[in-house]
Amino acid sequence: MNAKALTPNRTPQATEPSTAAPVAPEQDSTQTIAAAITSAIIEHRLAPGAKLTEQKIAAIYGVSRTIVRQALFQLARDHLVTLEPARGAFVSKPSVEEAQQVFAVRRMLEQHLIEEFCDKATTADFRAMRAHLKQEQAVVGRVDVTGRTRLLGDFHVLMAERIGNIVLAQILSELISRCALITLMYQSSRAAQHSSDEHVAILKALESRDVKLAKALMEAHLRETENSLLYHPRASSADLKLALAAYAA
Ligand SMILES: [Zn+2]
Repeated sequence: MNAKALTPNRTPQATEPSTAAPVAPEQDSTQTIAAAITSAIIEHRLAPGAKLTEQKIAAIYGVSRTIVRQALFQLARDHLVTLEPARGAFVSKPSVEEAQQVFAVRRMLEQHLIEEFCDKATTADFRAMRAHLKQEQAVVGRVDVTGRTRLLGDFHVLMAERIGNIVLAQILSELISRCALITLMYQSSRAAQHSSDEHVAILKALESRDVKLAKALMEAHLRETENSLLYHPRASSADLKLALAAYAA
């Protein structure tokens, strides 16, 4: 259980002198509920497509529906929740087809990226990539799911940034975040560790300027990531009260 993820980012407002404008306590409740629903989604207690009933959530936490609505709006902005007019809020359900298309485009672009990186990378670029991998390896073993998802994606974006291909870095970053929900929900710690180990192997091939090997490793890495995410058995849609119970005050 990820105890850290359950702790909302509370600022010690109560103990601070009240010279600044007072922070509404609702803001705190909104954060707490948004964090609880996020944890329930990424820990598979709430399945994609599960309905998030305002009234039920309000009752579970003993807060107003307005606060629940604010939390749901915030989650919708992060693409974790989909709001449907007249139907309410649901856990987002990214389509498998969309994810497959995203991975297909990534495979094309990243073959080019490997070639360009192999061609242009300097000692400083390799040093930066190694520093990133060190950070990545330190995080993958932990349960900080959002942190590791971001770092694993950053490996690819950083390669493009280091060689100055800003357009490619932007496109890759967008493609990677389109799959963020799928990754957040379906990537196990073991798969994350494996993914990071593959990054290490890719960088090693690049350092010996073996473009053929690096391209083959990148291709295999993207295929494997896609397979491990998309064909993972889905968690069943749990009862809302049960899914959120651990977090109710
Ligand atoms: Zn990767």
